[in-house]
Amino acid sequence: MRAHPAGPAHGDLINPAAPNLPPEDLNGLHPSVWPATAERSDGVLSIGGLDVRDLVRDFGSPLYLLDEADLRARARALREAFAGAEVYYAGKAFLSVGFARWVASEGFGLDVCSGGELAIALRAGFPVDRIAMHGNNKSERELTRAVEAGVGTIVLDSYAEIVRLADIAAKADIRQRVMVRTTVGVEAHTHEFIATAHEDQKFGFSFSSGAAAEAVRRVLKLPSLELVGLHSHIGSQIFDTAGFEVAAKRVVQLLADIREEHDVELAELDLGGGLGVAYTAEDDPAQLHRFAADLRTIVAYECGRHGLKMPKIVVEPGRALVGPAGITLYEVGTVKPVQLDAGAVRHFVSVDGGMSDNIRTALYDAAYTCALASRGSDAEPMLARVVGKHCESGDIVVKDAWLPADVQPGDLLAIAGTGAYCRSMASNYNQVPRPPVVSVGSGQAKVLLRRETEDDLLRLDAG
Ligand SMILES: *Cc1c(COP(=O)(O)O)cnc(C)c1O
Repeated sequence: MRAHPAGPAHGDLINPAAPNLPPEDLNGLHPSVWPATAERSDGVLSIGGLDVRDLVRDFGSPLYLLDEADLRARARALREAFAGAEVYYAGKAFLSVGFARWVASEGFGLDVCSGGELAIALRAGFPVDRIAMHGNNKSERELTRAVEAGVGTIVLDSYAEIVRLADIAAKADIRQRVMVRTTVGVEAHTHEFIATAHEDQKFGFSFSSGAAAEAVRRVLKLPSLELVGLHSHIGSQIFDTAGFEVAAKRVVQLLADIREEHDVELAELDLGGGLGVAYTAEDDPAQLHRFAADLRTIVAYECGRHGLKMPKIVVEPGRALVGPAGITLYEVGTVKPVQLDAGAVRHFVSVDGGMSDNIRTALYDAAYTCALASRGSDAEPMLARVVGKHCESGDIVVKDAWLPADVQPGDLLAIAGTGAYCRSMASNYNQVPRPPVVSVGSGQAKVLLRRETEDDLLRLDAG
């Protein structure tokens, strides 16, 4: 391991605005950030026993990889931590037919929130009774298809939808299991959460205004709907249970109010998703088993206070299952030093993808960890900005990345933690075909989604 200067003593290589020091060892792989089987030999990264240079030769660049061993370990950890609860994987994080089959085989349910996600689940033969459908504006068609397919649970989001779904279910002669989505005035992100009295957002029925109680009143009057529980989703990338504590207090209060008014004890409580993961070495999400145990304790305590039976808890992790298992590989095309006002130089390292395959940095200023993947280097660390090839100056993949100063065209870069919300949010901006998703394990590579081609793009063009 090389010793690095303790402070910003890299002359004009450093960006003075960057808060962090370079990592101890640029050739290291922080275990909480990189997938389980990520390894370096002679500086070259391998995942699932496969050399990334070979993977790029076979599948091209950019390339999304999913580490199968990492996924299996995460699935097992979720199952064990939430034993006694139901785990529904939030398919919006990443979904393909093969992946949905794997999710089913691991014993999870599946959240879908559009007709397209439902179509993938149905094509995969996902057990329909273990599918839940979400969304604040499900169309008549989407609802009809869900009801006819036998989707297990539909999460109601508006008064209009209650009537719409009740009609569809009645016509199909089905009593549809439903939940009512409540917004309880908690907004959580990482280690902060905000608790407010009002709920100024598009999802669900507000708790404080009485809309949630009114929704329950209306649903209970409709014979084609079977109300099984309440739903609450407070945010994403949450690192501890403090926000859930406030949410649980309010949602269990509502369960108690429902019993009082209707003499009904709802059997299920869906606390949504949002379990955070580490994108950088500084991120420190709660341990899964601890998080799960705390959630259970909080709900049990609140139910105890009201003398309610403990409901079945449902959780809906997306990112926590698939995020850290994925990486993206890019090839460097150009390295451009740009002189900054303060006399410092920023090194723009351009890669062959960008905001079309990872919109999260542009959209939420997300932080990522980046490494030179195709070789080792003993060069000094250089603070770089990894940018894409799109026609937007906000097309940034990693805002501040420590890379060896000799990074050059033809090098491969790996970005950690891209398994969730990258392929699923990918676009064709600038008519860039979307990269393939390949799962790797035990020295084998399997294509889950193939690379788009220009023919794929042109197929939609009416000419
Ligand atoms: C997005 C979403 C999830 C999953 O969120 P993650 O942050 O990926 O865990 C779960 N439930 C609902 C209702 C969501 O909208």
